[in-house]
Amino acid sequence: MSASEAPGGSLPAATVQAQAPDLGLPEEACLFTGPLDPCTLVIFGASGDLAGRKLLPALLSLFRQGALPTPFLVVGCARSEFTSDSFRAAMWEKLQAAGGADRAVWEDFAPRLHYLGFDYSSLASYVLLNNFLQELEREHPTQGNRIFYLAVPPSLYQEVALLLHQAGMAEQGVRGQGWARIVVEKPFGRDLASALELNRTLRQGFREEQIFRIDHYMAKETVQNVLIFRFANTIFEPLWHRHYIEQVGIIAAETLGVEQRASFYEETGVLRDMFQNHMLQLLALIAMEPPSLFESQRVRDEKAKVFRSLKPLEMPLPPGTVILGQYTAGEINGRRVPGYREEPGVSPDSLTPTFALLTAHLDNWRWQGVPFHLLSGKRLAQKLTRIVIQFREVPHSLFRNVHLGPIQPNRLVIGIHPEEAITLTFETKNPGALVCLRRVTMEFPYYQNYRGPILEAYEKSLLDVIQGDQMLFWRQDAVELAWQYLDPLIRACETCPDPARLLKFYPAGSWGPPEAAEVTGPWRG
Ligand code: NDP
Repeated sequence: MSASEAPGGSLPAATVQAQAPDLGLPEEACLFTGPLDPCTLVIFGASGDLAGRKLLPALLSLFRQGALPTPFLVVGCARSEFTSDSFRAAMWEKLQAAGGADRAVWEDFAPRLHYLGFDYSSLASYVLLNNFLQELEREHPTQGNRIFYLAVPPSLYQEVALLLHQAGMAEQGVRGQGWARIVVEKPFGRDLASALELNRTLRQGFREEQIFRIDHYMAKETVQNVLIFRFANTIFEPLWHRHYIEQVGIIAAETLGVEQRASFYEETGVLRDMFQNHMLQLLALIAMEPPSLFESQRVRDEKAKVFRSLKPLEMPLPPGTVILGQYTAGEINGRRVPGYREEPGVSPDSLTPTFALLTAHLDNWRWQGVPFHLLSGKRLAQKLTRIVIQFREVPHSLFRNVHLGPIQPNRLVIGIHPEEAITLTFETKNPGALVCLRRVTMEFPYYQNYRGPILEAYEKSLLDVIQGDQMLFWRQDAVELAWQYLDPLIRACETCPDPARLLKFYPAGSWGPPEAAEVTGPWRG
């Protein structure tokens, strides 16, 4: 360990030396589990933001790393008028705009990309697509394996899934077809009833093991690491419960506003956009019991148990259970930014929350009485996603004769993004003749001494779909349990006779409404 200054703070810090894995394998070996089935990825909504900004760059990066199967084809489907050539040109422009695209790699990849003009609501389009795929499959032996990615607005999910089914494309292993998987982006409904309805439609053609409900947060390296950190070490787990942990903080703070997605956000708000998915998944990773095997169904069983243990929110809400906010004009990184209500496409009297601090409790043996504070918001002071485990104070301060004031409790911080590090803060003796206490932080930067390839979240998610591994995807029972928990809260907020009373305003660039800043202040430094 070497002493150094703590990042962004005045505490002395110590770094942990990470050792490169000594497996006798190249680091690339951590990327792939084995040969992948050849397949075709069909992207509905291929002209859109998600396809151009996330999916194509992820596919190109996987291709560059030799991580895609052979053969691997992509068929973009949308209403926009493109030929395959003009679609490739448009995608290349988007890739360049995103930065870092390698022309030589692109030239190699581009012939795998095709485009089919598409009418989402016409069965004839799906029949045409099926013929188009069969033709491609004759030229390129993909064994008829297909992934259907719904990168379209949520209002189209059911129609596309149903027509895929009606065109016979949800079936597996018949008429030369191999496996068929469907990828659904969040939001999975806008409440419990619509989530159930979406699932009913999906299930008309697809079985649960064919449905990949993506939550790209789960595929972040630092998020995946939470289970390894908890269950591949003996020293943390014995402390991981109500006897030693006082509270847990989960923060997902953004400096961005609604950008170009105002109409989507007006309908959604922070509770649907962040809590129903990412925030509850992070909570589950911290709170779940160890599964008997690191395997998709068993891991997701344990997560579902956590959601089942969420203590239902009392109605009317006791004070302090939830703080909702909306940003007003302010300053971020020295730049003036408008308030939410002044953003293009937002109603001038909008009551949509852009910030929430929700204190959740779990009704189970391990976590009884431990608050889980979940905070997420837009236009906050700093881009920061982290999990803070705040341990209890020492039971008895035997240093009270030499140390004035309370001894600070230990704190474990799991930095998710952009800080990708785990830090542990503890008390030590300050060197010198006097016995003075000094708080130090031991830090493990996640990528230290790792030189292998790094998979971005969408890359990992796409690779998992190709591999058929559902571990990092939502299972329907968990989706329903998450909605069951949040629905009453969202309904109470939206049907409150005086909604303005619920909403606190905060200037962009702050840490949210002052009431929330008081609770979360200690975890942000
Ligand atoms: P877009 O709004 O960019 O829509 C994608 C494509 O769908 C458009 O290019 C358009 O293609 C088609 N489309 C849009 N509106 C309609 C409509 N009313 N009727 C028929 N077709 C329409 O969406 P995104 O790419 O941003 O997102 C796709 C999905 O992924 C959404 O469900 C979103 O919630 C989800 N998502 C997006 C993220 C992102 O970063 N963008 C992040 C996480 C989830 P055309 O007109 O050519 O057919």
